Amino acid sequence: MSFIESLTLALALTYSVSLIYWSGKKWGALVSGGLVSAAIISSLYWPLIVALAIAAIGAGLAAKFKPELIQGESRANNMREGVQHLLALSMLIVGVQFAVNTALLKSGITPWLMRPDVGDAFLPIAGGIELKAIINLGIWDKNHPAAAVMLTVVLLTGLLCKRAFCGWACPLGLAGEYLYKLRTRFIKQELLPPAWIDWPLRMLKYLLLLALLYIVIGMPTMSIPGYLNSNYHKIADLKMALFFITPGLVTLVCFGIILSLAAWRRQGFCRYICPYGALLGILSFLSPLKIRRNTEHCLIDAKGMNCDKCSRSCPANISVHKQINIRSDECQACMRCVSACPKKEALSFSTRNGWKLSARGLTIMLLTIMFLLPLVAYLGGFWHSETPVEARMYLIQHLDKIGH
Ligand code: SF4
Ligand code: SF4
Repeated sequence: MSFIESLTLALALTYSVSLIYWSGKKWGALVSGGLVSAAIISSLYWPLIVALAIAAIGAGLAAKFKPELIQGESRANNMREGVQHLLALSMLIVGVQFAVNTALLKSGITPWLMRPDVGDAFLPIAGGIELKAIINLGIWDKNHPAAAVMLTVVLLTGLLCKRAFCGWACPLGLAGEYLYKLRTRFIKQELLPPAWIDWPLRMLKYLLLLALLYIVIGMPTMSIPGYLNSNYHKIADLKMALFFITPGLVTLVCFGIILSLAAWRRQGFCRYICPYGALLGILSFLSPLKIRRNTEHCLIDAKGMNCDKCSRSCPANISVHKQINIRSDECQACMRCVSACPKKEALSFSTRNGWKLSARGLTIMLLTIMFLLPLVAYLGGFWHSETPVEARMYLIQHLDKIGH
């Protein structure tokens, strides 16, 4: 685990603990903070321990100055944007670190910058095959164990809190927001396609997901150990990194499509192309938490007024004001509708039996899932790649001879 991974993990978990504290559950914060600290210290890994010390100093300063964001009392939109930007910044630094590591290997120089294992999160097929190996054969991959961990993280977020990963954590979603805003500075009007085009386009991401699942499910179980030991798998991350560092025509076309979709309509990439979005969309149907409209408080039903502020604020164009429970696979639990609603009790992100999760609660849940699981995996030895640097250096020099 590199220093930036350690720092992000320690800061995120400390922030979760401090949010528990500011929500009034002081004992809960004390116990969870103690457990996280004990786990990190027991790792005896200096970057994690130093990161924990930095996070503790940050928490101490926050307790003194009490900024709104730290207390979790800011509005949902501010909370979400704060979390999104910090995670995106961390991913950007990790991405640069990964790129430098790969470029050095490609040039035949032993990297002086560590490979961040979290980069394996961008290997969803490898992650799927590894999960299949764990479930069917009880085998843990030694080359990219973080791929299975991060896929599990994403699956868990979908099962528990809908597509909150897309709305609160994905850096591509955030980049898409900026692109969309940039486009609307020059071309003001919305360019929404008619429903008969929108629906088949939305299905594209499910087709891409099917193609990925076909590779994972189609691989015979008995072939998996051979695949996990293959050179192809060992440098899957390097191939992925080179795909971005030295873009060919295919890469540029892919980027062009992604950027155009994001600029064309809000969440265009998430809505039409992203297979992760499709996977989370399917899982989100099982999530007990959904946006729910309480007709006893909603101005439409309670006062007979015309109101559609929730729907107008929704980036996914969901008609929130016409539904009771938002089951849509496009809902990213962004809580913009909750923020826009003039009646405090009318809209909530809640379970069927009325348990509500505030923006602060969702932040705690999301950050805990996203960072506690990698910490446990790290402590258990299921995070760091065991592929020797020499092997990676040799294989990247002979990429053209390495096939499936
Ligand atoms: S329904 Fe609400 S939470 Fe869901 S995407 Fe729309 S604005 Fe966000
Ligand atoms: S914004 Fe609130 S009050 Fe208005 S329709 Fe939506 S849920 Fe009802």
